[in-house]
Order: sequence, then structure tokens, then C-alpha cells
Amino acid sequence: MRSINTDVVIVGGGAAGCVTAGVIASFAPGAHITLLEIDCSADCNSTIASAFIPGAATRFQKQQDILDTPEAMAADICAKNHGESDYEITLSMCRHSANALHWMADIAHVPLEFAGEIHWLGHNTPRMHSHKLRSGIPIIRCLHTFLEKSENINLLNHTTAREIERTSKGAFRVKALSDGRELDIVADFLVLATGGFGGNPGMIKQYIPDMTDAWHIGAATNTGDGIRWGLTLGGETKLMNAFQGRDTIREDGTRVTPGVISEGGIAVNNSGVRFVREDLGYSPLSTLFRAQDGKFVFLLWDERIQGKIADLYIMIDALEKGEIHSFSDIKQLSEFFDLPGDRLKDTLDTYNLTPIGVQDEFGRLRETPVLRPPFYASRVTGSIAHTQGGLTINKQSQVIDESGTSINHVYAVGNDAVGLSGAGSDGYLSGNGWFFAITSGFAAGRAIARELTKSTNS
Ligand SMILES: Cc1cc2nc3c(=O)[nH]c(=O)nc-3n(C[C@H](O)[C@H](O)[C@H](O)COP(=O)(O)OP(=O)(O)OC[C@H]3O[C@@H](n4cnc5c(N)ncnc54)[C@H](O)[C@@H]3O)c2cc1C
Repeated sequence: MRSINTDVVIVGGGAAGCVTAGVIASFAPGAHITLLEIDCSADCNSTIASAFIPGAATRFQKQQDILDTPEAMAADICAKNHGESDYEITLSMCRHSANALHWMADIAHVPLEFAGEIHWLGHNTPRMHSHKLRSGIPIIRCLHTFLEKSENINLLNHTTAREIERTSKGAFRVKALSDGRELDIVADFLVLATGGFGGNPGMIKQYIPDMTDAWHIGAATNTGDGIRWGLTLGGETKLMNAFQGRDTIREDGTRVTPGVISEGGIAVNNSGVRFVREDLGYSPLSTLFRAQDGKFVFLLWDERIQGKIADLYIMIDALEKGEIHSFSDIKQLSEFFDLPGDRLKDTLDTYNLTPIGVQDEFGRLRETPVLRPPFYASRVTGSIAHTQGGLTINKQSQVIDESGTSINHVYAVGNDAVGLSGAGSDGYLSGNGWFFAITSGFAAGRAIARELTKSTNS
């Protein structure tokens, strides 16, 4: 059996694992880091996402004359999650966000830019950043390339961690299968970055029973390995029913952008009526959509909105798959979807009557112009995108036990750690996923680098 000795072993090469590895290498150039990834060219949640990444007080915002602070960002996150995340950790991650984004752009050479084309519900300040393609794929490709070029990082592709145990000397032994061969890795530090448990139907049934039969549109490899190992090593979990829900057209993850709603689109059920204030956000809406008759609803928007969102990667994808339908009038739309035409027309007329600045009958504040033909529509249901519950961590992303004590040299990042979205699907604010992946990775990377340089210098 092959065996490797390393300072740090990181399991999982999505956004969280990559940022952790890269940051350790940047701040502790003498460290040896080994990162295991099942398949770098397959989907992980970070590549499936459109990867709109929020960050506060970044230089990208400053270039747009946008004033923002970590405190304002933390306030938005906590308003959405009803104060259910740990405030100190939330603020700390917001404080890391600019440095994490700048590190990605300047050191890892990810071409990031300010992404201000859509108004994101719940963000009181524009703070989204992304790649120009508005996709996680090129970002992860850049990060992998950066790691591959780093002399002190060993990126083991086609490598699956299967078991992790503490050795009698306090190190970690990771038993893995690498290109079909058994591999033993012994490390002083362990980072769990396997991306949550959305792809594990048993865990979904156990922790989020209401979504047992819902489509899972995240990566199949997110089977909860990291959370399981963290528990075995003495960690505890929190908010395990938390998840990002998503309105979805097809089981393969085809979906429309949240901009459909935030720019003024509406949702109607198969009776042709609105049933909810759509500005709750797509995550809470996912469960409400599933509660409608037939579990499907219809999103309806118009040419003005389509003009703003048509170039986004996921809209192009949905259009190419024939899932964005356009109609010259409401009659044509209702006939296509077999909706009661008169009722749908009434619904639209009533929606259009609410003046800007006034709340409608569902409590949605009218902020956008009337919807007028030609119209666009898609049939969607609520799905589960990724899980937000996980191992309890401190501000350094170190796993802590039941008593609040940190577990020596064990870190959890990204969706292996409890996120900032509170319980259920309600508290997920757009961007919480990628944001937490890179900031928890940045925090872990800095903390591990500090420990490693301390031990080298002493
Ligand atoms: C449809 C969808 C849309 C989203 N949109 C957004 C968005 O616009 N903005 C946003 O902020 N967030 C979004 N998110 C959430 C965001 O993508 C995730 O929260 C974030 O990418 C998680 O990063 P991660 O590194 O923790 O997990 P991942 O990116 O999933 O990486 C985990 C990696 O671990 C590997 N792995 C798992 N088990 C093992 C093992 N045993 N051995 C070796 N490797 C292993 C997997 O192969 C995977 O590559 C979206 C998610 C989905 C699914």
C-alpha cells in the first residue's frame, strides 16, 4: 500500500477545500498540503452554482462607488435567518469576505468582477461578485490550476477518502482509494470539505424529512462523509434541517435565475392565481411551491425582465433545453400550460394595478413596472440544492465539541460546517453558499498556516 506523510490533509476539492489549501500554501510556504478529490472534472456544488459570491467592502465594490461594511452584510444575513446563526461567527466571516475574494483574484488568479446586474432580495447593498460567465465552473477550474502549480500542494485527483481515524500520536490516518489503489495518508491537520449531505437520501430522510421525495439538484458526491467523520472525532452538529431550496424546472437541475422574481416576475399555481409574496426568496418559496396542488407552479415574467437576465449562463442553458417559453399574450400562455385563462388574466391585471411603493394583497412591496406582453414562463417545482446544517465550528473553522471546546487540529469548511442560514429553508440568503465556502476556507487556511509557522519558528 502506498503511503504519504503530510502536514495537512484536506478532503474535498470544491470551493471550500481549494481556498483552504491555497491560503495555507500562501501563508505557510513551507507547509506540505495534500488535497483529495473524487474527480476534479465532475460536478461539485461549487461548479453547479451560478456562483454569485457576496463580499463586503471589496475593492470591486469601491470601483463602483458602493459603500459597504462587514457589519451591514452581517445584518442582512441575520435579518434573513431570523438571528439563528452565531453572530460572532457571521460577522467574522463577513470580515474575511473581502480578503478571501481579493486572495482569489490576486493570488489564485481567478478573474472575478463585480456582478451588479440583478437586484438580490435581502441584500440591502449590492455586493455580488462572480466570473464574467456567471458560473462556478471557470472559478473552480482556475482554483484547481492554481493548486496544481503550487509546489507545496499535492492535489490528488481521482482519490476518494474512505475512512479517517486518529492515530495514537494524535495525527490523522486517512484511508483512501486513489486511481483504484489503496493509499494511506498520515497528517497533523485534517480539513473536512466534502460539501454537505444533499446527495445522501438516507440523511435527507433523517434530517429534512419534508424534502425526502424532492429533487436534489446538487452534486451526487455530497454524501455527508465529512460530517460523519467529524462526529466520530468528537464534533457535534447543528441545524441539520437547514438547506437551500430552489425553484427548478427539471430534475437535472435546469432552472431560471432568481432575477425572474426579484426583477418583478410572479408565481401562479395551476388555478391561475398567485398564492404567496414572491419576494420571500427562492429558498423559502421552494417548500411553498411544493405545497401547491401537483407540487408545480408557473413563473411568469416579461420582455423587460428577460432583457436583463437572458445572458446569464443558467438562462441560456434553460432556453437551449426548451424550458423558457415565450408568448405573445396571456391567452396563448394559459392555453400552453392548460391554465384557466380568465382567472390568469385577472391575476395579472390585479398584480399590475398595485402602484410602485405600495404593498400588494400578499404583502409584496411593488418595486417594478407592470408586466406586459410578450410574456415568458416556466413550470417549476421546489427542489433541494444543498444542505446548510453541519459540524459546529468556531471563528477559525475549527470543529468544536458539545462543551464548546475546539477539537485539536480538526477543521470543517463549506457545507461540512453549519452555515449561516438558520433552520429549514427560510433563512438562506442568496450567496450564503459560496460566501461561506470561501470565508470558512480562508479562516481555516489562515489559522492552520499560523499554527504551522508557529511550530516551525519555535
Ligand atoms: C443548484 C445550486 C445553485 C447554487 N447557487 C449558488 C449561488 O449562486 N451562490 C452561492 O453562494 N451558492 C450557491 N450554491 C451553493 C454553493 O454552491 C455551495 O454552498 C458551495 O459551493 C459549497 O462548496 P463546498 O466546497 O463546501 O462543496 P462542493 O463544491 O460540493 O465540494 C465538495 C467536494 O468534495 C468532494 N468529496 C466528497 N466526498 C469526498 C470524499 N470522500 N473523498 C474525496 N472528495 C470528496 C466532492 O467530489 C466535491 O468536489 C448553489 C448550490 C447548488 C447545488
